[in-house]
Amino acid sequence: MTQKYRITLLPGDGIGPEIMAVAVDVLQVVGKKFDLQFDFTEALIGGAAIDGAGEPLPGATLDTCRQSDAVLLAAIGGYKWDSLPSNMRPEAGLLGLRAGLDLFANLRPAQILPQLIDSSTLKREVVEGVDIMVVRELTGGIYFGKPKGIFATETGEKRGVNTMAYTEAEIDRIGRVAFETAQKRGGKLCSVDKANVLEVSQLWRDRMTQLAAEYPDVELSHLYVDNAAMQLVRAPKQFDTIVTGNLFGDILSDAAAMLTGSIGMLPSASLGASGPGVYEPVHGSAPDIAGQDKANPLAQVLSAAMMLRYGLNQPGAAEHIEKGVLQVLEQGYRTGDIISADMNLLGCKAMGEVLIQTLEGI
Ligand code: NAD
Repeated sequence: MTQKYRITLLPGDGIGPEIMAVAVDVLQVVGKKFDLQFDFTEALIGGAAIDGAGEPLPGATLDTCRQSDAVLLAAIGGYKWDSLPSNMRPEAGLLGLRAGLDLFANLRPAQILPQLIDSSTLKREVVEGVDIMVVRELTGGIYFGKPKGIFATETGEKRGVNTMAYTEAEIDRIGRVAFETAQKRGGKLCSVDKANVLEVSQLWRDRMTQLAAEYPDVELSHLYVDNAAMQLVRAPKQFDTIVTGNLFGDILSDAAAMLTGSIGMLPSASLGASGPGVYEPVHGSAPDIAGQDKANPLAQVLSAAMMLRYGLNQPGAAEHIEKGVLQVLEQGYRTGDIISADMNLLGCKAMGEVLIQTLEGI
């Protein structure tokens, strides 16, 4: 029997619509093969929503997302909206979506594909075999803590304030996702904090240590964030699963991403306790190459694969896409961000066409 899914598409800004078009074509092809029917609804977010509906996350968009089985997002942001106040910037749309769907866990895999080892800026022996999952807390910490704002002091001088805060319950729920993720991977979990300076991190470390007793099959370690940043570029193979708060996770997951050579290859999943998850590339809207048919669509395509695996429980269809991506790379096709000598340079659209042909042939 045909399995039907309601998918909300949020193409957003910059290269978003170009890469989303490729992912939708891929889903259609895979859908035919695996007897899946996707009912796509497109909605506005980010700069496109500011222009089209006067706010970065219209209520209608959040409603559509809530009613769907999964949300596939491309990217938001661009120079045009950079001078708007922070609550009206495209990024506010993204933060609002995460909060509105209560997506507290962000899973970001950073795996070196053998075909792309030479795209990494690090030496082959340092990165060969790297396979890291960063589990980042997404709806708490300093991006949401209160008080926040720019306030006038008694002398009239302005003072900017943000607050890093976590409750035990917030730490525990992300901790559980991380321990369970580590159980399915190499059984090693590294919790990253700044417990030598921050009280909020001391509580984080205490809770992670307590939780470890419930997961005897997972080996827990702790690192301060400055050391973790250093270790990630010095000896990344020591890591299996990393769990950390919102701010540290934002930075470390980008550093882990760059080990792989291209941010254009990396998907992510943001999950809540129930309800639809949001699946999106790690990269932004790349305004410098938007509209030029230069974007790498593979992170978006691999995000669709993560959606099939984690959101729709269709691991076979997910694997099919991942296999197709590997075969395309194996055949020597590359977009500009991952090009190396003797490879075939393709634009975004052409990369999509080659991938579709490959998927139809597997
Ligand atoms: P970015 O990820 O958009 O771009 C960084 C660099 O990587 C650029 O040189 C870009 O051309 C390149 N790049 C990114 N994705 C690529 C792809 N698929 N193929 C080829 N090259 C790619 O980050 P940035 O420049 O810091 O930010 C640009 C805008 O994106 C900003 O407005 C920022 O706020 C926004 N942003 C959005 C998200 C998101 O939607 N989740 C994440 C990060 C940044």
